[in-house]
Amino acid sequence: MTTTPGEKTPVTLLGLGAMGTALARAWLAAGHPLTVWNRTPARAEPLAAEGAKVAGTAAEAVAASSLIVVCLLDDASVEETLAGTDLTGKDVVDLVTGTPAEARDRAAWAEERGARHLDGGIMAVPPMIGVPEAGGYVFYSGSRELFEEHEATLAVPAGTRYVGEDAGFAALHDVALLSAMYGMFAGVAHAFALIRREDIDPVAFAPLLGDWIGAMAGASVGQTARQLRSGDYTTGVVSNLAMQVAGTPTFMDTAAGQGVSPELLAPYFALMRRRLDVGSGEEDLTGLVDLLVHEG
Ligand code: NDP
Repeated sequence: MTTTPGEKTPVTLLGLGAMGTALARAWLAAGHPLTVWNRTPARAEPLAAEGAKVAGTAAEAVAASSLIVVCLLDDASVEETLAGTDLTGKDVVDLVTGTPAEARDRAAWAEERGARHLDGGIMAVPPMIGVPEAGGYVFYSGSRELFEEHEATLAVPAGTRYVGEDAGFAALHDVALLSAMYGMFAGVAHAFALIRREDIDPVAFAPLLGDWIGAMAGASVGQTARQLRSGDYTTGVVSNLAMQVAGTPTFMDTAAGQGVSPELLAPYFALMRRRLDVGSGEEDLTGLVDLLVHEG
């Protein structure tokens, strides 16, 4: 299916959950001919009223456009949904959150069926879709040529960041960022637990915590990256490992004093201690990265 200049690329979208529905609305608002399918048909009804063509089956939806965007729950639901469709000559953009291995396997699976495949990892929540100023974006990996061919269409719902030919890289970037987020959530949970039983207003405490996390992340992420690249973990250090390890009893004793479980902090402190035992007290915390990576 080819489009003439000025014509918007037709899109087929499989999956109308919270994210799929937001994507659908963004493409409809931008004037793309849109065919949608959802396992539970009722979810497609509002979109039909907004101009989407609703397919009765996934196979019909796939037949309607060259560009097939998949936004289902998980990789298993992608296989289940696409299994009975003819993917020959189709371009499949898989926005389902999954592991790098799933993305690589799904790319090979799609290619065996005559399709080209691009994997995506969405760094946004549904209210950020179609709202460029919200800053949401999607990581893409797979064929650069394929990405560039569809870049303008893919940029309609959210920004695009192409991260490499390896089909697994979008998922890897996605999971890496979300993993850092969970580490941050762990620290936030511990901090609120420390003040929980005191006469401290959590709402007044929140901006102190938020600003501190932002400042610390801003300072440390780039420094860690530069040290990992150079292999020199001792240049530019302002808070050395020996000093930080010496400070850990303060945190453990404060947690105990406040009646707070140290279970979120303790593993990180144990890693700091292990690095001190095998590394140098003059280092930054960068050496912890190496301790986490299994010999391969
Ligand atoms: P929802 O739970 O809202 O929707 C899930 C969708 O998957 C529905 O369309 C559902 O169909 C469909 N589905 C589930 N199982 C099957 C199956 N076996 N066969 C066919 N269809 C199936 O999820 P979201 O829309 O929020 O998320 C979709 C993807 O986007 C996920 O991979 C998620 O990780 C990712 N994502 C979501 C974000 C968010 O904040 N929502 C943020 C970033 C990524 P039915 O309506 O019939 O149940």
